[in-house]
Amino acid sequence: MNYEEKEFDNQKVNLQTWKKIIKTVFTNRKSVILLFTFVILLGMLEAITPLLNRYAIDVFFEGKDYSTLTPYIIFNVIVSLLFGLSVWGFIYQAGKIEVETNYILRKQSFETLQRLPFSYFDKTPQGWIMARMTSDSRRLANIISWGLVDLLWGLIMMIAILVTMFVLEWRLALIITAALPLMIVISIYFRTKILKGYRKARKINSLVTGSFNESFMGAKTTKSLAIEEENYQEFISKTQELKQASVKAILFSAIFSPIMLMISYVVIGFIMVRGTNMLLVSALTLGTLYAFIDYATRFFEPIMQIARILAQFQQAQASAERVVQLIETKSELVDSPEVIEQYGDIFTPKYENWEPIQGDVEFKNVTFNYVDNETVLDNFSLKIPSGTSVALVGQTGSGKTTIINLLSRFYEPISGDILIDGKSYKERSIHWLHKRLGYVLQTPHLFSGNVMENIRYGRLDATDEEVIEAAKAIGADEFISKMDQGYYSEVGEGGNKISIGQKQLISFARAVLADPRILILDEATSSIDSESEKIIQHATDTLLKGRTSFIVAHRLSTIVHSDLILVLKEGKIVELGSHKELLSKKGAYFDLYKKQFLNEQMDKAVH
Ligand code: ADP
Ligand code: MG
Repeated sequence: MNYEEKEFDNQKVNLQTWKKIIKTVFTNRKSVILLFTFVILLGMLEAITPLLNRYAIDVFFEGKDYSTLTPYIIFNVIVSLLFGLSVWGFIYQAGKIEVETNYILRKQSFETLQRLPFSYFDKTPQGWIMARMTSDSRRLANIISWGLVDLLWGLIMMIAILVTMFVLEWRLALIITAALPLMIVISIYFRTKILKGYRKARKINSLVTGSFNESFMGAKTTKSLAIEEENYQEFISKTQELKQASVKAILFSAIFSPIMLMISYVVIGFIMVRGTNMLLVSALTLGTLYAFIDYATRFFEPIMQIARILAQFQQAQASAERVVQLIETKSELVDSPEVIEQYGDIFTPKYENWEPIQGDVEFKNVTFNYVDNETVLDNFSLKIPSGTSVALVGQTGSGKTTIINLLSRFYEPISGDILIDGKSYKERSIHWLHKRLGYVLQTPHLFSGNVMENIRYGRLDATDEEVIEAAKAIGADEFISKMDQGYYSEVGEGGNKISIGQKQLISFARAVLADPRILILDEATSSIDSESEKIIQHATDTLLKGRTSFIVAHRLSTIVHSDLILVLKEGKIVELGSHKELLSKKGAYFDLYKKQFLNEQMDKAVH
């Protein structure tokens, strides 16, 4: 909700934000310079055209002197060619800048997102990020390229016309400029009204969408509570409100142009009266009068245009702020300059300096909290030799996930150290760690694409044979082969429906293919049938063989096989040992085991 509200609160144009976006545009210096040249040329040509007509009227029509007809025609041809050239040029360059700016904004957002830690994604709605990456950056790129062009064009044209007019005949020029302040005031007034109207409409619209979503996403609940009538009333009243607000905005927007047009006709009328008077006493030529009528119509166009552009910038203000906010998000979790020097950055890793990994892990006096003064781990120490499988057990909130978060460096300890092969986490890059760790999530995510591609995410350069080998090792080959197109069957969004157990097997195969020395497994709590359980158990055994592994275990079958079981309570290790040792102690683990074992027996009896 917070994220949505912000959109409507920003009404002022924040120059700081736009400066940052405009800087992005200027990365494409050559295009910008070309664009400005074409636009300036165009603005000047607009001021020159009436002069050409003036010459024709005064010399050819009034003076009956045709001696300069040929150079006049040649000059006219050159002017129209330049016109054509500058129109082509600015459309092409502005289009190029638009595409380029969109690309740069998305690239920067993507790079920032890659560097951000998990905690950022915990806090930030996915939809919010998606909107920044897609509609906002597209909108900004559009407005910044075409908006700047129109703004510049309008300004140049106004200045060029103003200067020409005063040089030509200052008395008539004064009449036109006298209307300028009135036009500006009216433009500002109407633009503000229109903007407010549309902003209100958009605000109501988001409420309508929200109410629509709620009614239909929760259709079942709505029906079961029999509140269709209430939902309908609420929806209708909001929709009506939206209609009224929109109509008001449309009304203002429809009045704006005629008013401006009226003023410009009045100004032209004044020029006609004053101009004809001057013409009669020969203080003015017919050509000049004609040119001024032409200028009067051209002069007010840019004012309306500039008013429109400024309103657009104002409307895009929220988009600009959100995109800048995303791009500038700082990660609290960064590598030190020395580490980057040795290991390289995420996007330019120096693989040649990356040492291989053995798999010894040590937590050394680690203290940690998520929130100040709420210690989760207090002076936690643990040494795990390479190849050991460790199971973490304990009640919800005991700190299992925290230990894994720290090992994966999604968070960093407040004090203490985490060492891999005897080297501190601070002396290695986060990217090194993430490339070395294998992480199998509790609810595995499959990307759109086929099974083959999904397994290959484990190691992108693996051959088809290696992928199939991994699937076979894990025991996934059987169900994959039974799918209609085998390894080439589509999965993920819009693809084949596959069960959670099968998803797990695919993500296990991914991990086998990646072949990490340290593996983290967040086991699913969901109860599965005993047939699948056997398959998953076999897969887990295969996966863990020879690796250092940390498992958040829920199934007894996994725990029993672990080399070391850690029983956690409030961030402390209360018991430590193998399944057999801990059972014979008849302590915390024994109690936990008894409870789970009984539950499991009961589950089996029921199913
Ligand atoms: P487990 O995985 O064993 O259920 P966790 O490691 O998730 O336990 O949680 C340990 C403690 O840390 C709990 O008290 C929990 O409330 C707290 N905690 C976990 N994640 C966060 C977080 N993101 N922000 C604040 N507190 C958290
Ligand atoms: Mg947990």
